[in-house]
Amino acid sequence: MGVWSWSDPWPLFWLKVLILQGLFFFARYLLVAGLAQALLVWKGARLHPVRIYPDGPPTGQKLREFGWSLVTFWVFGFTGVVGFSWTRLGYTQLYREVHRYGPGYLVFSLVLLVFFHDAYFYWLHRLMHRPNWYWVHQRHHQFRRPTPWASFAFGPVEAFLLSWVVPLALCLFPLHPWTVLAFLWFMTVMNVIGHLGVELYPSGLLGRWGLRLLNNATHHGMHHGEFNCNYGLYFNSWDRWLGTNHPLYEEKVKAILAARSGLGKKDDPTPEEPTRLQEEEGSG
Ligand SMILES: [Zn+2]
Ligand SMILES: [Zn+2]
Repeated sequence: MGVWSWSDPWPLFWLKVLILQGLFFFARYLLVAGLAQALLVWKGARLHPVRIYPDGPPTGQKLREFGWSLVTFWVFGFTGVVGFSWTRLGYTQLYREVHRYGPGYLVFSLVLLVFFHDAYFYWLHRLMHRPNWYWVHQRHHQFRRPTPWASFAFGPVEAFLLSWVVPLALCLFPLHPWTVLAFLWFMTVMNVIGHLGVELYPSGLLGRWGLRLLNNATHHGMHHGEFNCNYGLYFNSWDRWLGTNHPLYEEKVKAILAARSGLGKKDDPTPEEPTRLQEEEGSG
């Protein structure tokens, strides 16, 4: 008999899902953010030309980021309990045999899930920047110069709102457990990249088309510094369509690229910091 079973008595089932989900989220975070942190330490001063913010985080910030991330994982664990309970009751479209929809659908459903999360995040994020909702999101913005440890540092209400992507997707379209697992790893890696504080993407991903399609560390780094801009997650489409990219976003990427190509010649490639956008929605 395994550690966990679909036929456990309900209270035991809930307890095990809560603990296992919380631990799996924590383990993924620890590994990915830990590797990113190791890279930053290992490369050290050589990363200076690709830094998005000129200074490092204030003393004690990483510990606070870590602590709030731990809160998030228990909230995610709670939503996991709901999602697993729905599945046990037959309300979701989780399927176990790959052959049922074929390997092509396995890949397609992963892409679909990524796009679904991208849209869900963009709109929820914009909502949370409205003055009446900002209290939900302000914990995450307490970190003006975030580190990889801030990738899951949210207040509990924000974590709760963010946590429904997989349970909702499971109700909308069929998903295999492998797809969900691949998505969770992808989401963790991309979240950590967004909070890396340095721009390491290859030039190809930072060129004209790369910038149109994909977000990068600079994009989310500027969101933390400037607040009411750059709301998107994986893709730049929503910000581009709705005009919410920071007006100097592309210039900032170009400046970092230029500094990178002349590595070591210049101390600080960061262009003049623009004044904070005040055109819409209040900031905290
Ligand atoms: Zn962030
Ligand atoms: Zn925000």
